[in-house]
Amino acid sequence: MLAATIAALAGSVAAHQAGVRTTVLPTSLVVRDVMLIDGSGGTPRPHVDIVVRNGKVDDIVPAASSQEAAAADLVVNGRGLFAIPGLIDAHVHLSPAPLTERIADLRRTLNGGVTAVFDLAGDLRETSDLARMAIAGDIQAPAIYYAALMAGPAFFTDPRVVSSSLGFQPGEAPWAQQVTPETDMVRAVAAARGTGATALKLYAALDPAAVRRIADEGRKQGLRLVAHATVFPAKPSDLIAAGMNMLAHVAYLVWEGSPPTADFTRRATGDFAHVPPNAPEIERVLVSMLARNVSLNPTLWIFEQGSGAQDEVAGVRTAWMNAVTRRAAEVGVPIVAGTDDMIDLARDPLPILHREIELLVSAAGLTPIQALLSATKNAAAAIGVQKTRGTLEPGKVADIVLLEANPAEDIRNTRKIRFVIKEGRVVFDAAESGGARQPR
Ligand SMILES: [Zn+2]
Repeated sequence: MLAATIAALAGSVAAHQAGVRTTVLPTSLVVRDVMLIDGSGGTPRPHVDIVVRNGKVDDIVPAASSQEAAAADLVVNGRGLFAIPGLIDAHVHLSPAPLTERIADLRRTLNGGVTAVFDLAGDLRETSDLARMAIAGDIQAPAIYYAALMAGPAFFTDPRVVSSSLGFQPGEAPWAQQVTPETDMVRAVAAARGTGATALKLYAALDPAAVRRIADEGRKQGLRLVAHATVFPAKPSDLIAAGMNMLAHVAYLVWEGSPPTADFTRRATGDFAHVPPNAPEIERVLVSMLARNVSLNPTLWIFEQGSGAQDEVAGVRTAWMNAVTRRAAEVGVPIVAGTDDMIDLARDPLPILHREIELLVSAAGLTPIQALLSATKNAAAAIGVQKTRGTLEPGKVADIVLLEANPAEDIRNTRKIRFVIKEGRVVFDAAESGGARQPR
């Protein structure tokens, strides 16, 4: 199976791989005779051909009757493999970091099966450069979507603000704006849009009135709305009522049941002992998230081991996060996978997203298919790109990961990557990297 898997290689692909900047794709590619897990949550379909034209899924047909492969420019032998949609990490931070390092990280992330990322704040001058380079084919990277941050004055003493807003007074960069009752919200949202952001991220130090003003204008100007699950003093219920599309960090939901505080620096140390996962306040929040179609981005990994935080509440907090994530999934709240990082080579050659979705199964009790949805369909919906990405069906962008084992049986099989196809182009072939099954 390893040899001659790629039967033909179009000249345009060779030119691309030689480093020539081009948007020319092979006119057609067929993934031949594969088991399809299309990301919609339905039953896997054995023995299908995925027909790709001009970077999009054109058709999905039974392999036995398919004549498409004979005429295709490129055939990828999918026999014995499992096709899933390209994975989406809906919570990354690309900046600040040295650009060359970040470009290498993005390439490894793509080779590790992640074909789109959602950056939830940073220096968007850098992020938008990377996004443009990814579109142009100057770098091999996932598709990059990103959010501009808004917060109250108390946040703008954070050292991260200074480093991501160089050249501006803290609070005045269009991608990290300070909001007060005096803020001209129409202009502020327009400035955020001017960065190329497709979303606003509400971070901290915002009261319910400020949340509502930002949300109303953001929605008017066509932006998605993402928030930390509590932004102090505004609580989860205030954010849900204002129409957020996604709440990040399940742990912060605890503040729905805690005495109000305006001190956002205490955000990770809520009263987990006295507001149990089944507290009526938490249940009400989850039910209203379902009713308003607000997705939950739990970020288990970053709290469990990514941050290395060993504060006094860490133990009880981890159990709390797992239990509330499990209950949210039971209630029907869309769960969206995100790492709050992206890749951490010191611990793992593959993107952290594989670890996050494993935790969603092993710690939070989701099924493997639910965990896959969180990193495909649900993630695309949270970003607002569900019409083009997140599932494998005709008309969607051909972001496809071919695995050597079934992820519906064991979620850890998302690590067994044979091919990665992004926008109809084979960007990673494990056989080319010495069969090591590791990203290059
Ligand atoms: Zn984050």
